[in-house]
Amino acid sequence: MDEPILIDTHCHLDLEVFDADRQAVIARARSAGVGAFLVIGFAPERWRTATALAESTPGVFATVGLHPTEAARYDDELERALLQAAGNPRVRAIGEIGLDYYWDTAPREVQREVFLRQVLLAKRLGFPFIVHQRDAAGDVIAVLREAGPPHRGVMHCFTGDLAYARACLDLGMYLGVGGVVTYKRADDVREALRWAPLDRLVLETDSPYLPPVPYRGQRNEPAYLPIVADKLAMLRGVSREEVARVTTENAVRLFGLPFDLGEGTGVEITARSIEVGEL
Ligand SMILES: [Zn+2]
Repeated sequence: MDEPILIDTHCHLDLEVFDADRQAVIARARSAGVGAFLVIGFAPERWRTATALAESTPGVFATVGLHPTEAARYDDELERALLQAAGNPRVRAIGEIGLDYYWDTAPREVQREVFLRQVLLAKRLGFPFIVHQRDAAGDVIAVLREAGPPHRGVMHCFTGDLAYARACLDLGMYLGVGGVVTYKRADDVREALRWAPLDRLVLETDSPYLPPVPYRGQRNEPAYLPIVADKLAMLRGVSREEVARVTTENAVRLFGLPFDLGEGTGVEITARSIEVGEL
């Protein structure tokens, strides 16, 4: 039986850094067992590029949202454009949205309001949403509580300890597991991801950012996702197949991807069934 595919639930394959070899990057990922990709449109310019890539490439889906570093741009007109972009059938989530107190490029009050508005918009549309968080864990939890849990979304690139993981899971959120899990100083993150239920984890690369060891300092790409899967499997004492099967089921369920999960096991999800599922 074919090995279950992996799904990269967060990557930026539309960025210029992939212009020279985008199709080769996708082909390498497929060879490595990555069968589907969520390309994150984090600003109006990127809504176009992310959805265009999704429309032209089997297995690629898109998200649309306004990143917290861009929050100052949010107004009624932008929200109308966001709603329109979300109507594209290849769009599967609102994101990435959230709070970024590290770069602090928009007033925090504005970031919180824009985050809340987009969470409520996602809920109204029946979409899951993808949360970016940096140096703002407490306020992210506060906004999510205000927005009326339980939620359907993912804490992208989960970096936090067990208490934070528990707070996110209690709100209904999934945790996005990426290259950080391989980093030497990420013991807190590993402890949280060892504890969290496997059926609440999804895999991601955040390509071209956050490459796993031993590719740090280089451009990340979805072909490295198996490194993340292997590390998570090792951490939890389960097989790579188990991690692939369950995280792929999670991603299909969370983002409503049009793949047949077959017999409720997920093992029938192969690169081939994805092409069929998209017809
Ligand atoms: Zn991202």
